[in-house]
Amino acid sequence: MIDSINMEELTRLKQELERTKIELGILYEISNAMRTTLKLEEILYIILTGVTAHIGLGFNRALLFLVNEREGTIEGKMGIGPGTGEEANHIWNLIEDEKMDLEDLINAYKTSNRVLESGLNRQVQNLRFSLQEKSENLLALAILEGMPLHLTPETIVNYKNYALINFLNCEELVLIPLKAKDKINGIIVADNFITKKPITKDDLRMLIMLANQAGLAIENSQLYEKTVLQANTDSLTNVWNHGYFQYLLHRELDTARIAQRSLGLMMIDIDDFKVYNDALGHQAGDQALKELALLLKNQSRKMDYVCRYGGEEFAIILPNTDGKETFFIAEHLRENIRKLSFQHQDVLPPKELTVSIGIATFPGSGKTSSELISVSDKNLYTAKHKGKNTTCV
Ligand code: GH3
Ligand code: MG
Ligand code: MG
Repeated sequence: MIDSINMEELTRLKQELERTKIELGILYEISNAMRTTLKLEEILYIILTGVTAHIGLGFNRALLFLVNEREGTIEGKMGIGPGTGEEANHIWNLIEDEKMDLEDLINAYKTSNRVLESGLNRQVQNLRFSLQEKSENLLALAILEGMPLHLTPETIVNYKNYALINFLNCEELVLIPLKAKDKINGIIVADNFITKKPITKDDLRMLIMLANQAGLAIENSQLYEKTVLQANTDSLTNVWNHGYFQYLLHRELDTARIAQRSLGLMMIDIDDFKVYNDALGHQAGDQALKELALLLKNQSRKMDYVCRYGGEEFAIILPNTDGKETFFIAEHLRENIRKLSFQHQDVLPPKELTVSIGIATFPGSGKTSSELISVSDKNLYTAKHKGKNTTCV
């Protein structure tokens, strides 16, 4: 009798040990993968792949939201999972046929945009909830409580009017807050909406362990991205600095060359800025530079890169834009700068602060970045000689 109990106990312990070994293996693999990159998007992808992969935690679907402290919101960042049962079968069979392990799945991100282009991912990126409002807001509830929330088939009916439940349309789900050093910076939502496999205590425990690592990895990556942004930004005017301008121009030229597209470059120089500085002092000059940079940023297109080339010279890179369009945009900017009333601009000879602009285009004016810069510089020089406050192509 005693022997048989011991045998049963032994088998149970052996099974438990086996499972723990597998669990630790999975967590080890995911946390290792998270250490290979500092790019936020890649980190999020690794986390969600770990949660959904069959050889990972095996959830059918997982969503990740990040806290935006400044706006007081929780924003959908990424979602991994099939849209329908059919799609699920297709993907899961593919993964099984190709014998893809966790590492293969993670690497698939770099070679294909399948996940990022999925319907679920796009929908998730449009989700945004308030952090304050606790009522009918599951994400805020879980984040403010700082506790995992497990909605079982029995308890989920109490939340059926909540936006997130309507969106997911599932019968059971878990919400796990992500913890950074001293705050909650996001949340993972996971469910088994296709297989309806019950979410066990083991599933929950694994998810919590993964979430603790994930929160830290996300915080590191956000700090890194902030540092990179600062390093590439001009501190006075908040536009891209000279070093990043050079990098961007090379990069965008490569893209234009491969895609056989045109590219515009504008070099903008303030007219008689020395007079303005001499009359009003450098602080007034700095203020004018800030206002000018803000106008350039606000009035150029989202796809364009506004940079401070140096001193009182700005450069704008216009991807996929030909000479005619670049000239049109330049004239529009020049006219709006003239119309903007800068402090005490009547000290300048024309009584207003104006700019001269030189333009170059790829491939017409040159093939390399240095050729383009040199042509736009020459055109700027011509604009100055023509009497300033003008654009030359
Ligand atoms: P032009 O119409 O020919 O361009 O005449 P300009 O006086 O503007 O001459 P230039 O383009 O050579 O401008 C150089 C002046 O710009 C020198 C300096 O007074 C001013 N400047 C350059 N960088 C800064 C800056 O960071 N802050 C301030 N306040 N002034 C700057
Ligand atoms: Mg100058
Ligand atoms: Mg000048």
